[in-house]
Amino acid sequence: MELFKKINISEDKNLSNSENLINEKVKCLIIGSGPAGYTAAIYAARANLNPVLYEGLQPGGQLTTTTEIENFPGYPNGITGFEMMEDLKKQALRFGTDVRFGMIVGCDFSKNPHKVKIDDGKIIEADAVIIATGATAKYLGLPSEEKFKGSGVSACATCDGFFYKGKDVAVVGGGDTACEEALYLAGLCNKVYMIVRKNYLRASKIMQERVFQTKNIEVLFEHTTKEIIGDKFVNGAILIKKLGQPDQQEVKIDIDGFFLAIGHHPNSDIFKQYIETDEDGYIKTTPGTSKTNIEGVFACGDVQDKVYRQAVTAAGSGCMAAIDAERYLSAKGLH
Ligand code: NDP
Repeated sequence: MELFKKINISEDKNLSNSENLINEKVKCLIIGSGPAGYTAAIYAARANLNPVLYEGLQPGGQLTTTTEIENFPGYPNGITGFEMMEDLKKQALRFGTDVRFGMIVGCDFSKNPHKVKIDDGKIIEADAVIIATGATAKYLGLPSEEKFKGSGVSACATCDGFFYKGKDVAVVGGGDTACEEALYLAGLCNKVYMIVRKNYLRASKIMQERVFQTKNIEVLFEHTTKEIIGDKFVNGAILIKKLGQPDQQEVKIDIDGFFLAIGHHPNSDIFKQYIETDEDGYIKTTPGTSKTNIEGVFACGDVQDKVYRQAVTAAGSGCMAAIDAERYLSAKGLH
């Protein structure tokens, strides 16, 4: 799912004379509504920056598709991702954040104030921009995967697991996300295969133990997916066991659902014309800060973090971005 579409503002006729088209001027614009975006909003609102936050295509971000969050400090009994994001939103609203439904479809960071275009055509000028657009699930890139998206192929067990109640499904990946998805599906489905390309799981020990202790999860180590098969809906997958080895062998599994859990791609594409990213597309920030290469543009959360990628680190970096934005605006006499 592409959360933020790429549009080159300078090629967009509607923006060629953008000076006359500015619909609104704001002090602080926050793009994205995960833990980073909402934390930035809470801090920016409390600092009187009157933040406007655009939620994007997936309001609440990735956590709304996760099940129980057990590792966010302050929740000794855990909390669902959906509830946590609702609470964060309420907290941002309480201090006056203007939370809006809408997507950013383009930007022009060539000079201050910066401009962004919203999907309804509106152009907003902002003295400070905080990018908190997160990351999006990766797919294997198989043609059959594309064919069955929405009819058996999914990247979100929490969203779609219910449709596979009592059925057999597979989850691809060996990280924490894959384990979490497999455990969630094991509570709904008859059987869950985990398709893992290496001979070990990358997930944390506690998640591995839970997987191994769950009777209806079968981990298929050293298996890669060749094809997903079916007519209108998925009814199986062809896997290769020990790919490239002398004893390589083709294996067929009968499944109704195929879930991807192989990592994420940072949602930075629309900013790349101006904002420096690394080779994987993660926004580069000055170490220890949220500052990007463009003055007045800050980045926080998973869009700039390929190492930790946790809700709590995203929230922490959202706080940093709001503080950096506030100091920047004050230093420029804009606040
Ligand atoms: P990870 O990058 O940790 O794991 C991705 C998994 O997918 C790996 O097993 C990888 O295999 C596999 N993979 C990647 N590409 C392919 C491919 N083309 N074909 C087959 N397999 C593939 O991503 P996660 O989303 O699991 O986790 C991201 C971060 O979020 C981690 O830091 C994780 O700890 C954290 N997280 C924490 C949770 C929690 O604490 N509750 C829940 C979810 C995530 P290989 O190992 O061979 O590279």
